[in-house]
Amino acid sequence: MKSLIQKLADGRHLDQNEWVALIAGDYDDQLLFDQAVAVRQRVYGRDVYIRGLIELSNFCANDCYYCGIRCSNALAERYRLTEEDILARCEAGYALGFRTFVLQGGEDGRDRDDYLIPLIQKIKSQWPDCALTLSLGERSRESYQALYDAGANRYLLRHETANAEHYAKLHPPFQHFEERIRCLKDLLEIGFQTGSGFMVGSPFQTPEFLAQDMLLLEELQPQMVGIGPFIPHHQTPFAEYPAGSLELTLRMVALTRLLLPQALIPATTALATLDPQGRERGILAGANVVMPNLSPADVRKKYLLYDNKACTGLEAAEALDNLRNSMAAIGYQVVTDRGDWKKPTE
Ligand code: SAH
Repeated sequence: MKSLIQKLADGRHLDQNEWVALIAGDYDDQLLFDQAVAVRQRVYGRDVYIRGLIELSNFCANDCYYCGIRCSNALAERYRLTEEDILARCEAGYALGFRTFVLQGGEDGRDRDDYLIPLIQKIKSQWPDCALTLSLGERSRESYQALYDAGANRYLLRHETANAEHYAKLHPPFQHFEERIRCLKDLLEIGFQTGSGFMVGSPFQTPEFLAQDMLLLEELQPQMVGIGPFIPHHQTPFAEYPAGSLELTLRMVALTRLLLPQALIPATTALATLDPQGRERGILAGANVVMPNLSPADVRKKYLLYDNKACTGLEAAEALDNLRNSMAAIGYQVVTDRGDWKKPTE
């Protein structure tokens, strides 16, 4: 295993079987974490970038079987932030030290280009030193281009699984794997710093599928990669499936760091939901980003993608000092910075 890890670190390429060996093998993960952290420190030092996550709306036209805000969940209490709400949260976030805002939401019909473009322009003109990230699902290439031209810098859209048959087991027939990939390729070509990623331990997942996730990351070369454990939501078809494993999630984070040294990799909220030390453990496995919740407090419980989603404690943007302290305690510093992707120098 040691030599496989070395091969990955040196060549940033493995074949399917080698990936499966590293994903499913029995070995001491600390070896892997040490390598991942060394690579991360070479590129990003000991800085931790923060993003203020504003959850715009939990209305959603999609019906992902794993997700609590899917359109078929009639029990979800729906909400939608107004432009005024959103700008107020940016204002509060800026004062706290955020220099990136992430606007995430369900696929809400309200969020048409003619709504988003003026909003993006307002945020970019009011806080010109901030980066703006969108995570609003699948859209046409024209729409992505228009949002980019309006000033959005980054876009998060996880591929969820790189295996088309697996994708079809996680989504209804009207959602297509090919369309997801089309979106990711368009985002990359347009020039967004683009985030892909996947869940670990989603129903029916195998080590072979995770290997395919890594091969897809190698092919796409996204600037950001979000990796979190699947966590069941009680009002979804996957309510009875077990959550993904913390250990395997951390292993996938570390492997991703070795594959893509420059990637911006968050220690995700789902990781923090599984383990109170999840944020720290993510950073110690090679992650370099944390995305505290900057949504208005009264809607946080409604943006429930999975059960018990963390949104207080270290997850809350107001508790940034706690996050700073907990990162300092493991030798890292939260910085006030846009935290852009760093181009490889070689
Ligand atoms: N609608 C947008 C963004 C919101 S969902 C989109 O589809 O991109 C953001 C991410 O939450 C998804 O990409 C998915 O990977 C994750 N997610 C949703 N349900 C989850 C669950 N039950 N457990 C863990 N992660 C989940």
